[in-house]
Amino acid sequence: MQKSKIKKISIFYHLPFNDFISRFYLMDNLSTIEISEKIFRETKISISPRAIQKRLKGLGLIRSFSDAFNIAIKKGRKSYAHLRKSIKSCELRRGINLRLRYEIFKRDGFKCVLCGNTPKESRLVIDHIIPVVDGGTNDFLNLRTLCFDCNQGKMISEERKR
Ligand SMILES: [Zn+2]
Repeated sequence: MQKSKIKKISIFYHLPFNDFISRFYLMDNLSTIEISEKIFRETKISISPRAIQKRLKGLGLIRSFSDAFNIAIKKGRKSYAHLRKSIKSCELRRGINLRLRYEIFKRDGFKCVLCGNTPKESRLVIDHIIPVVDGGTNDFLNLRTLCFDCNQGKMISEERKR
């Protein structure tokens, strides 16, 4: 665990890597989630979209940590109000699109993987098994279906760990 963290950080500050990240962002118009997926596909190195955003911000390429906001700026939109509203939702903030959300629900049989609640009993949400703040990504294997109650319970217990 500790070893992989060190590896991640050293690669992270390696300059050519910054070049890749800025090129993907500026030239290929990829979102940070897409950049993270591309890097993982090509190098098997996992860098969270959040970490990429930090890098881009450090390079002065983005102004905010919100993808939607930065895309709006890139496209020259004047009003971001509707985007700001939508990114309040956890799922969009973490960049899980509707298709991925559906795929995860489908894989888990449309029920909470911990207690078996279905949408009839509780609202279902997508949970990051390794939290985003700890570098967890939107990888298929890092996501699972939880009901609202189990997810709240998990968040409270993690809050206590910190
Ligand atoms: Zn549950």
